[in-house]
Amino acid sequence: MPRLITLFSGSSGNCHYIRSESTEILIDAGVSARAIESSLSEIGTSLRNIAAIFVTHEHVDHTRGLEIIAKKFAIPVHMTTPSAEALIKDENAALNAVLVKHTPIYSAKVGDITVSSFIAPHDAACCVGYRVEFPLGDATHKIGIATDIGHVESDLIDALYGVDECIIESNHDVSMLMTGPYPYMLKRRILSPNGHLSNDDCGKLINILAQSGTHAFMLAHLSRENNYPPTAELTAKTALSAYPNIRIAVAAPSTPTEIYI
Ligand SMILES: [Zn+2]
Ligand SMILES: [Zn+2]
Repeated sequence: MPRLITLFSGSSGNCHYIRSESTEILIDAGVSARAIESSLSEIGTSLRNIAAIFVTHEHVDHTRGLEIIAKKFAIPVHMTTPSAEALIKDENAALNAVLVKHTPIYSAKVGDITVSSFIAPHDAACCVGYRVEFPLGDATHKIGIATDIGHVESDLIDALYGVDECIIESNHDVSMLMTGPYPYMLKRRILSPNGHLSNDDCGKLINILAQSGTHAFMLAHLSRENNYPPTAELTAKTALSAYPNIRIAVAAPSTPTEIYI
């Protein structure tokens, strides 16, 4: 049975699990291999069943577990070439042996799942989001994943348009960030066009996607210091007030959070 579960979310680490009828993949592996294995066992599976890992970008909150997973499980890891080069400095790294490097815009098929990348504006060597598609009944099921996005541009909307479910960054409440404890430079980085997406900007994006037919959203990559889950959820609900049947979940930092497909 197909499933969509965020295992870990936020600056302490990100990892999402997607399963079609026959194939299981991860998007990002930003916590330890051990933590991912234990979370997967909670949902009834294991790294042994994962056919591939697709990485959004090289930042440690998306890549922390990759080297040990490569050593122990040899799961193919798909990432863009600029991001892989920024991540891997050691030519003996086990990750080299399992790495599948791609141009920034690419498409790859693993089992019955097709994964296509799109550019996410963020201060990494190359940050991408993913559109994941697989057959379900007579139709093609479509899932979008876009975390670590500084701002929303038309290419990003085009890439996510018409997905059934979408994981979207809802990083911070702007007033909490502005009045919070972060140093000025870090606040500027987060608010910049290549930083992270605010609750308000997430609301605007999910409103557009709701019009395209998306019926469930997972709010993800919430800042622990500059956001509260109920604040993010309320902003999203307000943005979707014309769509009372759309489901919203808020991804917990380290507890599996599922959106039912
Ligand atoms: Zn990042
Ligand atoms: Zn991140």
